[in-house]
Amino acid sequence: MTQRIGLIGFPLGHSISPVFQQAALDARGIDARYEPWEIPPERVEEIATRLRASETLGANVTIPYKSAVLSFLDEIDPAARAVGAVNTILHDGDRLIGSNTDVVGFTRSIREDAGREIAGAILLVVGAGGAARAVVAAGLREGAARIVVVARRPSQAEALAAEFQRGPLASDRTAIDALPLDPRDPRLGDAVAGCDLLVNATPVGMGHGADAPPPISLDRLSPRALVCDLIYRPPRTALLREAQERGAAILNGLPMLIYQGAASFERWTGQAAPVEIMRRAAEEALRGE
Ligand code: NAP
Repeated sequence: MTQRIGLIGFPLGHSISPVFQQAALDARGIDARYEPWEIPPERVEEIATRLRASETLGANVTIPYKSAVLSFLDEIDPAARAVGAVNTILHDGDRLIGSNTDVVGFTRSIREDAGREIAGAILLVVGAGGAARAVVAAGLREGAARIVVVARRPSQAEALAAEFQRGPLASDRTAIDALPLDPRDPRLGDAVAGCDLLVNATPVGMGHGADAPPPISLDRLSPRALVCDLIYRPPRTALLREAQERGAAILNGLPMLIYQGAASFERWTGQAAPVEIMRRAAEEALRGE
């Protein structure tokens, strides 16, 4: 029986996960189809039915269900619990097990594609949504020295910082602060000047917004810093172009996407993910858009 892996979301848009996950399944000779499951909110209960079907191996979960699926699951791993979101589900016997592979995906991209370590680093995270939560979780797990969360709604940044300060990943070695994304606030420039790793976790610069100015001023960025944009369409946003002009190292969101997908693949199949095949398939799909 051909097994199924679903991508649960609504709307699904132009996700490239089906392309690189299918390439990985085919490369490993696994008889499974990775398919989009676009489920509108009024049919949310369909998610559990599809997940528990005998041929379902598992699923990826994306917007708007990353938190909503928590209530359907029998088990949730510590990273997903800390982030408050699940992006991967394994259907194991009669159990549904949720995990969050964005955290390891981000960490691996910083280590393997930028050659940097999060341990001991000062992180500045722009945005305080789901992706920012995964980055903050990675910072805590890896032992960053300090994490500064910056958001246009100060209350969102403060709530995120407060939650992680008392959450399961909290540790004495990592300070977490919140700042408003307000160019008039002098603390923002100081935070940019002092950071080792600046991460854009907002959608500013994505797709048709490619010409939008960066979400944060890089005037005081150190050339020793690494700037990571979680966006991968386009591959070089205005933020990354400016960071590069200032002599900083840059990284886009494609390696994180591939590595979170590789970690998901390994959970579903128990086999090592063919990462280079996944990367090539994703790059080809993006070039063809
Ligand atoms: P989200 O949960 O909607 O959070 C977005 C955050 O950005 C919120 O804090 C939001 O603030 C802020 N924001 C939105 N528009 C803004 C603007 N014009 N100026 C300043 N802040 C703004 O979205 P997400 O899931 O975290 O995704 C964020 C980005 O990361 C997206 O581009 C997504 O594609 C990318 N991502 C990449 C990967 C990867 O594997 N590479 C994985 C996950 C996400 P408000 O709440 O005030 O709007």
